Amino acid sequence: MQKVNTDVERCKGCYLCIANCPKEAIKKSGKVNLKGYEYIIVDNDKCISCGSCYQVCPDYVFEVN
Ligand code: SF4
Ligand code: SF4
Repeated sequence: MQKVNTDVERCKGCYLCIANCPKEAIKKSGKVNLKGYEYIIVDNDKCISCGSCYQVCPDYVFEVN
């Protein structure tokens, strides 16, 4: 099961989530959403469901399970 769900269409490419993930589980995806921003992708194997990404993202991309 995914530990974190992401609604990448909301992402605006600020990368605050990457800077604040303690496990370096988030990276740039190399893909662009409909708004034109390169969105992020979460490595489920590294994620510890800490919720930091959920807290720092200004655009409510994350949902932590
Ligand atoms: S903090 Fe949110 S808006 Fe910023 S890059 Fe991460 S997912 Fe995208
Ligand atoms: S829940 Fe924590 S460990 Fe998982 S991606 Fe978000 S910040 Fe990283």
